Amino acid sequence: MAGLYIHVPFCSQRCTYCDFYFVTTNKSHVGFVEALCREIEIQGHKYGHLEPIETIYFGGGTPSQLSLENLERIIQSVNGHFTTTSVLETTFEINPEDATLDYLRGLRGLNIDRLSIGIQSFFDQDLKFMNRVHDAKQAKQVIGDVRKAGFDNFSLDLIFGVPNQPEEYWSANLDIAQGFDTPHISTYNLTIEEATPLANLVKRGLVVPVDDDESMNRFSFTMDYLQAKGYEHYEISSFAKPGHRAVHNHKYWSHANYIGVGPSAHSFWWNGLPAERWSNIRNLRLYEAKLMQHEIPIDEKEFLSLDMLADEHIMLRLRTIEGLNLNELEERYGVDLFSERLQALADLEEGGFIHPIKNQIVRLTDLGKTVCNTVTATLLPADVS
Ligand code: SF4
Repeated sequence: MAGLYIHVPFCSQRCTYCDFYFVTTNKSHVGFVEALCREIEIQGHKYGHLEPIETIYFGGGTPSQLSLENLERIIQSVNGHFTTTSVLETTFEINPEDATLDYLRGLRGLNIDRLSIGIQSFFDQDLKFMNRVHDAKQAKQVIGDVRKAGFDNFSLDLIFGVPNQPEEYWSANLDIAQGFDTPHISTYNLTIEEATPLANLVKRGLVVPVDDDESMNRFSFTMDYLQAKGYEHYEISSFAKPGHRAVHNHKYWSHANYIGVGPSAHSFWWNGLPAERWSNIRNLRLYEAKLMQHEIPIDEKEFLSLDMLADEHIMLRLRTIEGLNLNELEERYGVDLFSERLQALADLEEGGFIHPIKNQIVRLTDLGKTVCNTVTATLLPADVS
């Protein structure tokens, strides 16, 4: 079954580190909602009859900038053009400053059953540095309100590697997050993306990025800490209490089909070779204009051969707790990694980066997770590594 991703491109201000597509100037969302519903209709006609939808994910930008009325219209459009009777999970990204109790109750009333909350830090110093809208008090307040509104499935996003963040702030962030009996926590290393205000500050020498060793130490600490508190580290950035893994994200890691709608949204469809991946235009005005003319707002499309899919599969599966199943890799992707990379696998095991291979499954150790990209590069088939 497929996933549906809905990109809502509005934010009230720009976070220093962010390179997602969003605009901060739109006061009216009418044109966007109209265009989005047209895109849902077009994609529903094309793909809706092929697979039912199992997960819906509202991301952004900031979906919580939309009114409940606009959200209801979007959800009605999805239900009208896709088969949604088997939906298991509907996730909604929300920022603390938007999360009034009324709004949260309204979301629950629209059958949204999982929230991804952009906390990032419980400290004002970090939040100011990142130019987040909310403050530490709102970050703590939102969790109680989320529960009051009837959400027992939610995730908190936290960022480590923030320049000048005292070490004790990071451990306190984890402590506070898990202290609310939070079912899911996602942790991200702050990366300096090109053309962001943060990259500009670094270029001008006004901010010194955290070095790789320190980031790696924080990540190691995070793994030890959250696993000791009963969280499964089921994907490099994702920690969940049993029964609370993100179903939608699993689709990205397992080459399941998904359709993305909204400006800059990505889609993936594999129904015979080559598989297809495409992304929408990263420009709200053009996106709306194209859809008003009933044109699909695609920016780039890529065709993926089985070899390309195999490389992706190796990268994606090594990030997960299930690991890379060598039998599946051979049967579905035609790559016999065990024979092709026997020495590399032995070296990685000897170095403590992967567990001893059992039942043909390669799984990273905690040490391997700290250098996941390097381990992946070592295992990619000889012609691409
Ligand atoms: S709220 Fe999210 S999408 Fe918007 S600028 Fe901040 S990080 Fe980026």
